[in-house]
Amino acid sequence: MEPAGHVAIIPTPGLGHLIPLLELAKRLVVQHNFTITVLIPNDGTNLTPQKKVLEALSETISSTFLPPVNFDDLPPESAMETKIALTLARSLSAIRDSVKALAESTRLVALVVDLFGLEAFDVANEFNVLPYLFFPTTAMLLWFVFELPKLDETTTCEYRDLPEPVQLPGCVPLHGRDFTEPVQDRSNEAYKAIVRICKMYKSAGGIMVNSFADLEPGAFKAFKEQGPSLGLPPVYPVGPKIKTGSANEMGENECLSWLDGQPKGSVLFVSFGSGGTLTAEQMNELALGLEMSRVRFLWVARSPNEKQNATYFGAQGSNDPSTFLPEGFLERTKDVGLVVTSWVPQVQILSHTSTGGFLTHCGWNSTLESIVHGVPLIAWPLYAEQKMNVVLLAEDLKVAWRVEVNEKGIVQCEEISKYAKGRRKSAKKEDDGIERGISTGFEPRWVIYKITLRGSQYMEGTQELVNILCQRMFVLI
Ligand code: UDP
Repeated sequence: MEPAGHVAIIPTPGLGHLIPLLELAKRLVVQHNFTITVLIPNDGTNLTPQKKVLEALSETISSTFLPPVNFDDLPPESAMETKIALTLARSLSAIRDSVKALAESTRLVALVVDLFGLEAFDVANEFNVLPYLFFPTTAMLLWFVFELPKLDETTTCEYRDLPEPVQLPGCVPLHGRDFTEPVQDRSNEAYKAIVRICKMYKSAGGIMVNSFADLEPGAFKAFKEQGPSLGLPPVYPVGPKIKTGSANEMGENECLSWLDGQPKGSVLFVSFGSGGTLTAEQMNELALGLEMSRVRFLWVARSPNEKQNATYFGAQGSNDPSTFLPEGFLERTKDVGLVVTSWVPQVQILSHTSTGGFLTHCGWNSTLESIVHGVPLIAWPLYAEQKMNVVLLAEDLKVAWRVEVNEKGIVQCEEISKYAKGRRKSAKKEDDGIERGISTGFEPRWVIYKITLRGSQYMEGTQELVNILCQRMFVLI
């Protein structure tokens, strides 16, 4: 069969952007016969996880790492978001060259970027291809993107000092203190870059959101009803796009065989995503809390760091957990716990029957992976939009238990032990059919989501998008 057309995809740095974009690519190839090229802007550091994910792709998805950009001129304390935006901006000429070559050699119909990639739309327009945006997180955050330029113009204080919560259309009220991390300091370069990028969102031909209508009914309904009159592009719920593929892709299988030996639903999986890191003091409390709880755990422990996102741009630290965990911890917990420092096959862990709960930073991919596999969440947000995700999960959907920090910003070991042990429902409700060893004490709404995911609306957004792409291709032919 003739390919339906070619799509170029540009992920900005971060596994949390690349992984769902590749899942979108797989869907466009397998179900709709498109061919794909992924162009990857980067700064050259620690690309191993990205390479492993890309190696596992079929031949119909080709990928190219663009020439690495250089950050030698940036101050060392530059925000992660500044670096992400600059990686894209400094790759624009390479992106233009690659898109030009694709436009000359294929029937290129669309350029798909992610939430930081909007500057590449000029290239899409130059070569007359559709400029699409894949938004790898919530519809709530997308409303925030459209609201931020207005807030920027109408307020002067730091957002955490706003007297009232903000009411985004169709969403629960959102306090300024829970806004996404890079807007928390209005004097920072990262803030200015974010506001500038937010203003470009209206120029997208369409926005695909990695969420689904049953998870955020109010926000998606508001896009349908209010979007056109506000001059917003069409918004398509195309989620949940979560990682597919085998565990071997990511190497580490030790934890899966360890999980095989644990009782059903007994293990708390503890992980803070690809970039999340804790301070030494916080690592200590977490270790002591897990030990105190006597709950079985599988902990992906990265070397401590004063930054909350130290491994996002590649910094690794020690791979020997005994150098940074409390003395004797590994020995004392060896019968109930496994600590790993490497990349783990997270989706396989979440789908394993021994996994009963997930202590997570609430990156949106981790959240969706949990939802799809019905694993209750203990929410420990660190950076980026994670606090906003937790507002949705804990205050709107009521499916997560949010950790409390003390006045020094630390989650103490006694609290951690309490979360790890879980909150029991009343005796009557415990018999409600949920087979989980750790109960976060909320209504079992996961079951509802799992059923809904099988429904036809799950496909709706992707199908609508494909129709548009195909029509456009027809026009081009
Ligand atoms: N991930 C994984 N193994 C790890 C750490 C992360 O497979 O050891 C995957 C995880 O399953 C998810 C992605 O990396 O798909 C992380 O995305 P998320 O949005 O949760 O967080 P981020 O890393 O972007 O903060």
